Amino acid sequence: MQLKTLLNHVQKHKGFVYDHVELHGGPRARLVVRIRPDARCRPVCSKCERPAPYYDTPEGTRYFQFVPLWGLLVLFAYTMRRVKCPRCGVRVELVPWAQGKSPTTTAYAWFLARWAKKLSWLEVARSFNTTWDTVFRAVGLAVEWGLQHRDLTGIRAIGVDEVLWHRGHKYLTVVYQIDAHCRRLLWIGEDRTKECIEGFFDWFGLRARWLRFVCSDQHKPYLTAIGRRAKQAVHVLDRFHIVQRLNKAIDQVRAAEVKKLERDGYEPVLKRGRWPLLKRPENLTKKQDAKLRDLLKYNLTTVRAYLLKEELQLLWDYTSATWAGRFLDRWCSTVMRSRIEPMKKLARSFRVHRELLLNWFRARGEISAAVAEGLNNKLKVITRRAYGLRTLKATEIALYHSLGALPEPEGAHRFF
Ligand SMILES: [Zn+2]
Repeated sequence: MQLKTLLNHVQKHKGFVYDHVELHGGPRARLVVRIRPDARCRPVCSKCERPAPYYDTPEGTRYFQFVPLWGLLVLFAYTMRRVKCPRCGVRVELVPWAQGKSPTTTAYAWFLARWAKKLSWLEVARSFNTTWDTVFRAVGLAVEWGLQHRDLTGIRAIGVDEVLWHRGHKYLTVVYQIDAHCRRLLWIGEDRTKECIEGFFDWFGLRARWLRFVCSDQHKPYLTAIGRRAKQAVHVLDRFHIVQRLNKAIDQVRAAEVKKLERDGYEPVLKRGRWPLLKRPENLTKKQDAKLRDLLKYNLTTVRAYLLKEELQLLWDYTSATWAGRFLDRWCSTVMRSRIEPMKKLARSFRVHRELLLNWFRARGEISAAVAEGLNNKLKVITRRAYGLRTLKATEIALYHSLGALPEPEGAHRFF
C-alpha cells in the first residue's frame, strides 16, 4: 500500500490531491508530502470562505507539520494560490488542513493538545520533536475551539474561588460549575475585586437566574456580587473554605507562639509542628502523629486553638441546619472566652455569616464540597507547575485545557 492511499484514508481534503511523498534522510529524517490543487475545484477565499476565481500562484512553497509517523517528521508541502474574490479582493486561498498562517496542521495541533492533557507542555514538545511554542499554540487552538463550542445550558450550581497566581503575588478569581452531572472550570478573571466578579456575572448573563446554589468563601466582594446578581440562589459558605480559614488561624497562633517561646528562652517544642496541627488526625504519618501527641501534653495556646478546631469538626456530622446552628453558637461562645485573638476573629465572622454557613446543611446532597476542593487543588498544582507559565494568557489556557472539560471536534483524536 502506498502512503498516499493511507493519507487519503485518514485525512482527505476536498479540492486537493496528495501528489507524491518524498523521504529525506539525514539526522532529521522527514517525509515530505507534496499536495497540489484538484483541477476540477475552484479555490476558496480565506476571508469569506467562499469559492472565488483563481488569480495567481506566487513563488514559495509552504510547509505544514503533520502528525509524525514511525518517528519521522511529516510535512505537507503546498504552494498557496491567490484568488480574486469579488467580495474581498485579491486574497490568499483557504486550505482545509491549517488555519491562517499557522505552520502546523490542525490535525497535528489536536494531536499535541490531547497529549498535553497527559504530559507537561515541555514533555510533549520533547516527545514529538517540536518546540514548547508549538505545543502552546496547539493547546491554545484547542481551548479556543472548546470555549466556542461548549454547552453552557443547565448550570445550576457554581463555586467561586480565589487562587494565588504568579508566585503568590496576584490573585485570580475562578468560577466552577459544581453540579452533580457536570464539574468543570467555567471562568477565570484577573484579580479578586468587585469589578472582577461583576465581570463574571456580566458574561454569565441571564443564566444567573437559573442558579440554585452558589458556593464561595466569605471574601466581601464575592458576597456582595453574589447577593446582588444571583438573589434566588442559596448562597453557601462551604466547608472547604471554613476549614481553610480555621487552618490559617491556627497557623497564625502557632507562628506567634513560636516567636514568643523563642523570646522567653523556652525549648522550641512547636518546631515542625505545623503539619501535625493542620492535617486531619486520620491523615497523619506515624512521625507526625507522635509529634502531635507530644505537643498535646503542653499547655500551649496553640494546643488550645487546635482543640477548638478539632471540636468544630463535629459540626459537619449534623444533618439538620437547626441543630448545626445550636452547635455553632455554642462553639462561638466558647471561642469568644478563649482569649485567642485569631480564633475569636474567626468566631466573630462565623456569627456574622451564620446563615450562609448553615446553608451548607440546607444544600446538602445537592452540591459536593469535595468537588470544589478537588478542583481547587488541581488548579493549584497546574498554576504551580514549572510550565513557564509567566503570562496570564498561558495560565488561562493551561487551566481551561485541564479543568474546563472542553469539547473536541469529531474525529480530532483519530490519531490515537
Ligand atoms: Zn472573499
